[in-house]
Amino acid sequence: MARIDRIDIIHFEFDVAGLGPNGDGMLGYNPGSQTALQSFVLRIQDTDGTVGEYCPMHSGKHPAVTNQTLPLLKSLIGRDSLAREELYQDYKRRHRHLAGVGYSAIDICLWDLFGKKTGLPIATLLGGYRWRLPAYASTISGDENGGLYAPEAYADFAQHCRELGYKGFKMHCWADGDPQPEIDTIAAVARAVGGKMALMTDPASHIATYADALRIGHACDDHGYYWLEDPLADCGHAPHVHRLLKERVRTPLLLTEHVRGLEAKTPWITDMATDFLRADPEYDLGITGVMKTAALAEAFGMDVELHSSGPAHRHCMAAIRNSNFYELALVHPKMANPLPPIFACGYSDALEAIGPDGCVEVPRGPGLGVTLDEGFLAHAETGRQTLT
Ligand SMILES: [Mg+2]
Repeated sequence: MARIDRIDIIHFEFDVAGLGPNGDGMLGYNPGSQTALQSFVLRIQDTDGTVGEYCPMHSGKHPAVTNQTLPLLKSLIGRDSLAREELYQDYKRRHRHLAGVGYSAIDICLWDLFGKKTGLPIATLLGGYRWRLPAYASTISGDENGGLYAPEAYADFAQHCRELGYKGFKMHCWADGDPQPEIDTIAAVARAVGGKMALMTDPASHIATYADALRIGHACDDHGYYWLEDPLADCGHAPHVHRLLKERVRTPLLLTEHVRGLEAKTPWITDMATDFLRADPEYDLGITGVMKTAALAEAFGMDVELHSSGPAHRHCMAAIRNSNFYELALVHPKMANPLPPIFACGYSDALEAIGPDGCVEVPRGPGLGVTLDEGFLAHAETGRQTLT
């Protein structure tokens, strides 16, 4: 049995040009600005000398997530590197007060290790269903700086995404609690590309009242939207109000992005409070957690839509039948996707990564099938820990 005998965690920082304060205290498009974001590379080596590695694509920018991963690492030394289910169950309990989020990167790393040990891509190890994933362009939030600044700007960008090959478009608008700009954008985008792309909108939990969420839902109904995601300021934690919303809005609802873990998502199904389930390997206890959620959804005849983008997300979706779209996040007409430029193998979740068939490819190499850019990492490193 191979045991984990060395772990490295390398912290790094990267600058995103055009990202800056957006007037509401949040980050958004701001020409002339530059913002440093953080993430880390986790490497787990076992006594066979096999190394698994993972760089969080989105969750790493939250120090709270990194700080949940760090304390778990020491206790991994000496554990069976292939016992992912045993470790999942163990660490889920250890971090039960924190919903297990910090274990997510570790699980993905161990899947990469397993893939490298066997010489197979994770998608194949998970069962193998497809290699090309239909994708939607998912925008960064609205701004007041000449980017996504008005409903017409969203409509123009949706048209551009369609020309690039995207089959779907989802907007995050202005998170100021005002439903009217959201409703105007729903209509403007539908006028531009309705019937030609699947359209989704994600208020990202900024709508204060049920009455306003109903108005947005009815706008989605009027324009044939594919789904309405997380409208309300309950942050998607209250199944009851969403069941009410679902009774009065025809557009399918997508909830559970902020509901952590398999068990907590289940009442959303049994209470009939959502149409689609949501899962993310960087937040829902890794690839192991996502595949359990996918099986849960499948048992109820439901679809599970993966949140956000990255190689782990692609391998999961490659092995899930009941999933419609890969979320290529977060795109903008004038700014690069704010992701770590960590890959040396051509892997990309940039806006232009879409193929003419409206799909992205699943990497076919062993494990996650990606190669990290050591030169970038050496340049961008801000600190590291090694455990043995
Ligand atoms: Mg969302």
